[in-house]
Amino acid sequence: MVTKTPKKKKVLKQGMLSNVMHQFDNAANIVGLNPNIRKILEVTNNELVVHFPVRMDNGEVEVFTGYRVQHNNSLGPYKGGLRYHPTVDIDAARALAMWMTWKTSLAGLPYGGAKGGIQLDPAQYSNPELERITRRFTYALGDNIGPELDIPAPDVNTNAQTMAWILDTYMSTKPPAERSMNMHVVTGKPIGAGGSEGRDRATGYGVFLTIKFWAESKQVDLKDKKFIVQGFGNVGYWAAYFLEREGAVLTGVQDAYGSIANEHGISVEKLSEHSQANKGSILGFGDAQSIDNTDFFGLDCDIIIPAALGNQITAENAKRIRAYLIAEGANGPTDVGAEEILLKKGVNIIPDILCNSGGVIGSYFEWLQNRNGEIWQLEEVMQKLEKKLRESFTKVSETAKDRKVDMRTAAFIIAIERLEETYLQRGIFP
Ligand code: GLU
Repeated sequence: MVTKTPKKKKVLKQGMLSNVMHQFDNAANIVGLNPNIRKILEVTNNELVVHFPVRMDNGEVEVFTGYRVQHNNSLGPYKGGLRYHPTVDIDAARALAMWMTWKTSLAGLPYGGAKGGIQLDPAQYSNPELERITRRFTYALGDNIGPELDIPAPDVNTNAQTMAWILDTYMSTKPPAERSMNMHVVTGKPIGAGGSEGRDRATGYGVFLTIKFWAESKQVDLKDKKFIVQGFGNVGYWAAYFLEREGAVLTGVQDAYGSIANEHGISVEKLSEHSQANKGSILGFGDAQSIDNTDFFGLDCDIIIPAALGNQITAENAKRIRAYLIAEGANGPTDVGAEEILLKKGVNIIPDILCNSGGVIGSYFEWLQNRNGEIWQLEEVMQKLEKKLRESFTKVSETAKDRKVDMRTAAFIIAIERLEETYLQRGIFP
């Protein structure tokens, strides 16, 4: 029998866990977090690793490894995305689950934090293979997820279609009379499968809004401001779309395949059309030059939006950054060393747990609609999203001012204090 070479590659750890722990420790020290509560928040509640077989198109079987880490649920059901990427491992899932706990707490949502995914490169698999992988992963997760227990959503390399497969598989395992009450087991679904208007653009729109609020607070006019985006997936695209509509100019983009730049502007719509026709790659776009990946973050621009993976802005490239604002569309894109350099240089960072929280806020709206049997219009969703994000942004800005700290520390302080209050009120069982 001929065996296919496994499609998994060994990849270097990203160290996101040490970053999130550093951010947590820093804020916990400032607020003097109750030491017992600190012990609880420092570790994850549950960690599930599943190995499951899937038949490939050529008839062979491949065994995959999937993860779901549930960090904390003191504020409500676990919530967070599933990513399909070679860098997914237990430490990455832990770090990302923790960021979800801080994010939902900061946003004032009735959710805890979780994250997971599968260690694979989806570009190596056909659509029918990805469907079988997703369905079998859902089956392996079984009742460890659930509409009132743990609610997955899209993340890197997963989308509304992935969520529809999860929903259908999960519902199929329930007795007929219970199926429709499980609609909110995942969010980020296609509209026809119980999804919400606006959820597709919620994260990118949120990134744009936080930039807009920041600009208002600093009396900066976004018109003609140059911005660059790392990652031209769902978050990068929508953030660029809304910024362009506001008059800002996209001057550089980097994706998994390479980097392009044009100081006179790159049309967001044209680039999106090009990338869709080019297997998701920005390379070969006619209206821009191809540049070296290592020169990307040093491009002459006002705003940088990292909207891809963790630890992309490092002590190495931070020195070359000329922008004065970094809006973290991705989770954990700036490592601890880079942050120190950037803050010293006076660069403002809108932290991930605030900047990209529009996604999970949009998920919350979808979950509420499913739970209550309601269908909201796009305008209503966008207005509610704006209101919620404005509240969060204002709270973070005020806390930063009062406590004389940067925005990330302020965001963590708010998130941690809300969790501390819950534990103090409820106590520890038994
Ligand atoms: N994956 C997104 C995030 O990192 C969305 C999570 C959700 O909607 O549950 O925030």
